[in-house]
Amino acid sequence: MDKHACRACGGSSGHLVLDLGDQPACDYFPRCDDPGPDPVYPLQMWLCSSCGLAQLLADPTMPEEPRGTEPAALVAQAADAVEQVSSAGWLPDTGVVTEYGSPHGGSWLDLVTARGLVPSGPGEPADVIIDCFGLMHAADQHQALAERAARLAPGGVLVLQYHALSTILGSRQWNALRHGHFAYYSTTALTAMLTAVGFSPRTAWRFDLYGGTVLLAATRDGDGHDGPDEMVAALLAEDARAGVLDPGAFSGLQGEVNAHASALHDWLAAQQCAGHKVLGYGAASRAVALLCQAHVDRELLPAVVDASPAKQCLRMPGTDIPVAAPARLAADGPDAVLLFVPDLMTEVREAFPGVETSGGRWVDAATLASGGLQEDA
Ligand SMILES: [Zn+2]
Repeated sequence: MDKHACRACGGSSGHLVLDLGDQPACDYFPRCDDPGPDPVYPLQMWLCSSCGLAQLLADPTMPEEPRGTEPAALVAQAADAVEQVSSAGWLPDTGVVTEYGSPHGGSWLDLVTARGLVPSGPGEPADVIIDCFGLMHAADQHQALAERAARLAPGGVLVLQYHALSTILGSRQWNALRHGHFAYYSTTALTAMLTAVGFSPRTAWRFDLYGGTVLLAATRDGDGHDGPDEMVAALLAEDARAGVLDPGAFSGLQGEVNAHASALHDWLAAQQCAGHKVLGYGAASRAVALLCQAHVDRELLPAVVDASPAKQCLRMPGTDIPVAAPARLAADGPDAVLLFVPDLMTEVREAFPGVETSGGRWVDAATLASGGLQEDA
């Protein structure tokens, strides 16, 4: 660990703040006829003492993920975000735009080009650079941000969206940690990273996505913009309250791992004892980490339903639980469907009304974490 250099500032001083042990690559869904065991890799979060960036410690080479379907919640948030950025005057009517997107999808390009911006050619400068969950996928954080900064035309704006570290800490979202996501940004650490490339945050917006997501607008220093506004100040104050620079503030996150895993296992076992049929929904990375930590197999959870055609005939990494098509919901008539992606709750209840009309219920797997769900088996 003493050999680790911070992905942003290069500093070597820091703390291991979350350790999930050896975990399968949550992006690699083996075929159902692949008996395993699946390869595992250390999954650990390290907090830099110099710049405060929370980051992935190890950097194993990971197989590619079958691309999932885009949740409606993500699509709606993108439209809302573009509208708000535009209303605040940060989206020009003309000019060139480029996007550093997430490999998991969720492009904003169509939304902004529909407003008159023109997409840039490869590597060309842009007046607006949009990065929606893109930067976190870069192993070298400084290089990745420097590349974006260098590409921004004079007077341009860099718009960055990230799942807030204060949310991860406050809601104890330990399973946000995953291979391939190299950075977990606080506004505090991101501000330091921006300073290092001659940029400053100017304003920000908050969204409910993933329990708390931030969209930050940054510009080059000397471009004549006012300093950070009160929204940025509020986010920095929230960071301070959450203790984003304090390794001790992460202990609750580590403590939640076992509590959440035990709660899930106990709940599934109780459902089984009561003769209740349970299915999972959402073959997402968060589900992989949770099922592995809880040592859940297909005896306890016969299948995880997912709408993505790319994930059919595959199984959950590190377990023998198959991924099933949505038709399985109607076929099984489950008493409960355990939802691993809380942002999908509204969407799945609308898409699969049969679950509830047949007497079943949707259960948010995240609420099993803190004893928030009363056991009624
Ligand atoms: Zn650092």
